[in-house]
Amino acid sequence: MSARITMTTPLVEMDGDEMTRVLWAAVKKELIEPFVELKTEYFDLSVKNRDDTEDRVTFDSARAAKRLGVAVKCATITANDARVPEYSLKHLLPSPNGTIRAELDGTVFRKPIIVRNVKPSVPSWTKPIILGRHAYGDVYKNTEIAVDGPGKAELVFTGKDGKVVRKTIMEMSGPGILQGVHNLDSSIESFARACLIYALSEKVDVWFATKDTVSKTYDGRFKAIFQRVFDAEFKAKFDKAGISYFYTLIDDAVARVMKSSGGFLWACKNYDGDVMSDMVASAFGSLAMMTSVLVSPNNCFEYEAAHGTVQQHYYRWKKGEKTSTNPMALIFAWSGALRQRGIFDDGRDLIAFADALEKGCLDVIESGVMTGDLARLADPAPAKVLDSWQFMDALSENVRKALSR
Ligand code: NAP
Ligand code: MG
Repeated sequence: MSARITMTTPLVEMDGDEMTRVLWAAVKKELIEPFVELKTEYFDLSVKNRDDTEDRVTFDSARAAKRLGVAVKCATITANDARVPEYSLKHLLPSPNGTIRAELDGTVFRKPIIVRNVKPSVPSWTKPIILGRHAYGDVYKNTEIAVDGPGKAELVFTGKDGKVVRKTIMEMSGPGILQGVHNLDSSIESFARACLIYALSEKVDVWFATKDTVSKTYDGRFKAIFQRVFDAEFKAKFDKAGISYFYTLIDDAVARVMKSSGGFLWACKNYDGDVMSDMVASAFGSLAMMTSVLVSPNNCFEYEAAHGTVQQHYYRWKKGEKTSTNPMALIFAWSGALRQRGIFDDGRDLIAFADALEKGCLDVIESGVMTGDLARLADPAPAKVLDSWQFMDALSENVRKALSR
């Protein structure tokens, strides 16, 4: 590599907290800046700066992401009572991820980074299973009542025009419980669009499943909207990319997933996604190898690691210890963002660099050189277990070699 790769449009860079902030700077210095003339619009989303700016910086960064189309985000502290004295905070601001997700109306996709020497718990899963969770409504925004005796339970809707729709839920014969849930067509459409956009960007099939045989109106609406958005806006693009959209019942989907070899996006309703994302993530091994991207229905991508700020490692690092924190998910957040920037700007060098960076890093781990978290899972046992800085040096050397070829 002689000259550094140039960028036409900047990335939105959202810096964060604690150990991931420390590694963030190291990843840029060791693995990105030597090869790419990095252009970013920088926002400091550290907890202290969010507090100092009354959270304006978070909103500004989300708007910049909407404008520029690609962002890369470091992990950030969601303030709780314990953090108030620790960082001398004035407020208990909401989760920045929640704020950004709401601003972008986006859906989060989680994808494991797979290496040959860390085997998933399900042996047939040789390719990643990407999970897309609808993060609005259903049981997460429910209204519940416990009733202490017999009576009539009804579902009532009063339209803006005063028209009333009323249905009997149950003539209750004794004490029991009731629950009301909702969703919005607009949110389901956004979810469908985000899934289909993401699948096109990754060139993977989409599976979607609900229980529409039982819930004909509610889950039936999810199925119908997904199909309508697919037919109207995506069918031709999917045919061209050689990928497909597949709908089935949720129990059938679960059974098929367990026997599959992976390599698809599993779009899940809110509750299914909550439960299944934890199952899929833990079966693939390590939180430090899970990437995450927020995709908005108008084609904006925000990349990050799925893990948090690795607080306990940070306290050890502050005491002068060299920790063996795994930077892979952070690196893949950067490579993901640079690749997407390349796709938007027709920057072939940037795309090639993102591919080489990922491959260079995977090759190091597959050669048996890794951080402590992976060492516990590796089969065969690792050749070398390094601290983050030694590991980053090994990565940098290998990426440099790969790029000079
Ligand atoms: P965490 O930072 O994800 O860490 C939990 C544990 O997972 C660590 O103690 C460590 O286990 C292991 N781990 C996670 N990432 C690792 C890595 N890269 N390398 C090696 N080990 C890794 O979760 P947390 O401690 O619950 O949360 C800390 C802070 O992060 C909180 O303030 C929370 O608000 C924030 N958070 C932010 C995001 C985000 O911005 N997206 C997401 C989640 C949490 P060992 O200790 O066993 O080594
Ligand atoms: Mg969960």
